[in-house]
Formats: sequence, structure tokens, C-alpha cells
Amino acid sequence: MKFECDGIIHNPLGGGSYVFEKDIVGFLLKKFTKNKIVISIGAQPNSSPHFGTLIVFSLAFSCAKKMKEINPNIDVSILFEVVDTARSETIEIDGIKYQRSLRNTNKISECFDDYVEILEYFKEQDNINYIIRHQRDFNNQEYIYKIVKKLIENKEKIGPILDPKYNNLRIRIECPKCGLSDKNGKLMSFKGNIISSYCKEHGYFSVNIKENTENLEYNTPLRNLIRGMVYGMINKDSSKEYQIMRITGSDYAGFYQEELLYKPAAILGFPIEDLPVILYAPLVLDWSGAKLSKSLYVKDNAYKDLPSYLINYKF
Ligand SMILES: [Zn+2]
Repeated sequence: MKFECDGIIHNPLGGGSYVFEKDIVGFLLKKFTKNKIVISIGAQPNSSPHFGTLIVFSLAFSCAKKMKEINPNIDVSILFEVVDTARSETIEIDGIKYQRSLRNTNKISECFDDYVEILEYFKEQDNINYIIRHQRDFNNQEYIYKIVKKLIENKEKIGPILDPKYNNLRIRIECPKCGLSDKNGKLMSFKGNIISSYCKEHGYFSVNIKENTENLEYNTPLRNLIRGMVYGMINKDSSKEYQIMRITGSDYAGFYQEELLYKPAAILGFPIEDLPVILYAPLVLDWSGAKLSKSLYVKDNAYKDLPSYLINYKF
């Protein structure tokens, strides 16, 4: 069925639009008390970015530019959090699913230049600086130990919320010899500051969460929760000169954050009013109204009907 379109855009107000109207950036600026603001964006670079990633990046730079227009005295920059711990490949051994991360297989190097090219483009267009941070550096932050320790202490409460299928706290560590990690956390054990796991070929291995936080990996809901709390702690920390907010796709808005961020943070005793501002970018939808998905494209070779530039920046 075909519908004709009159080409007129109505911009109806709804929900938050009634409150913020045309000045969402002014509203955001009131949230910050330090004069250095960092806007965080992220991606799992398993292939060249698709159109949705461009929307998130574009919104982040536009938001930073607008903030500086409103208040020229503030310093605003972009932080690209590279989720290089995301899955690159999965293998099953004796009924246990193991995965190798993008950094382990080095698959990230196949497409990373595309992300840098996009960041450079926006930097030039909007006169906004950016920095790139990998998961090792994210996890090296002083706040991580305290948060992970708290999560382990509360894993019986948090596990079933963030992982309703297996009820596990999905912290992962890689076998130091072959790089495999237990995808679903079935072989993980926690004792004091020591997290242990098992590799069929190389036996038991462990990480001390106090001394080697850089080696930790998480699944997406857990990483979202930890990141939220880390940002919240940075924002309250007077020894840090900046405050940080997040911009991400709307598929994480609403129910996801209410159930998987705010309530778990409250269970952990984290003051949820300290959690960072998260601004959601519009989703790019396919003909059926479903989110254009990069992982479906990668996995099942989907969206053959769409122009390739919508799916792969490289083309
Ligand atoms: Zn191994």
C-alpha cells in the first residue's frame, strides 16, 4: 500500500517537549556546575558505521556546538568510548559459549579508520575537539574497583535483573593465553577481590579486581550500569575538572534505563540523582518501523533493499 505525503512537517509537542520546548540545550547546561563538559558517545566497531551511528555522533557535536554558542566560556568536548571488548566471534566448547573480543581478534582495525574520519569531519565542521578511549582506559579509572566490588557483593540481586536468562553477573575476563571468555558467565566465580574463570585448553585463570581492573569486560546492560555510576561519581568529584553526560540511541530510552540502570543503581545504594544526564538520539527506522540494526546486517546480511551508504559508511 502506498501513502501520499504532503511534505509538511508539523513538529507536534508531546511529553518532554512541553517542558523543554525549544531550549533543551539551555536545560542541559543548567545541570552542570563545572565549566568543562564532556559529551560521551560510544560504539562497538565491528564494521563500518551505519546511519544510526552518524546520527548519534552528529547530535553530540551539534549539542556541544550549541552549548558553546549559549555559553562561550565553557569548554565542551566529545569522548568516544570504544567498546572494543564487544564480541567479535563466538565458539561453543562442551556446551559453554565462549567469545573473543574485537580487540583480541583485532577485527576493530578493519573499520576503525571510518570512525576516526567521521570524528575528524565533525571536529572540523563544528570546531569541537574529541578524544578516543578504549575499554582498558575506561576500566583503569579509580572508581571501577569500588563499583565492581559492590556489584559482586550484590550479585544475587543484580544478576537476575540484568541477566534474566541466566541470573549471572556478566563480568567477563579473557584467558590470558588464548583470549577466550565465558560469554554467559556460567564458569565465573567470585571470591573477595578475585574473579576466576576457566578455559578448556589452558585451565583456570583469574583477575584481581583491585589491582587489574583494566582486564574487566562486561555485557551491555552491566557496562551501561557501571558507566552510569562512574560518570555520576566523576560529576560529583571535585578533584575532576569536568562533568560528563551521555548521548545514545533512543533504543536505550525509557523502560531499558528505568529497569536496568536506575532501579539497579538504587539497589546498590547509589544516589540516582547523581546519575548522568542521558540525551537520546532519534532512531533510524526501516520500512517496518524497526530500528536499522548493524548487528543484523553483520550477522544475517540484512537490508539488501536499502542503499548501501545507509548501512555502511565506507560505501
Ligand atoms: Zn585459553
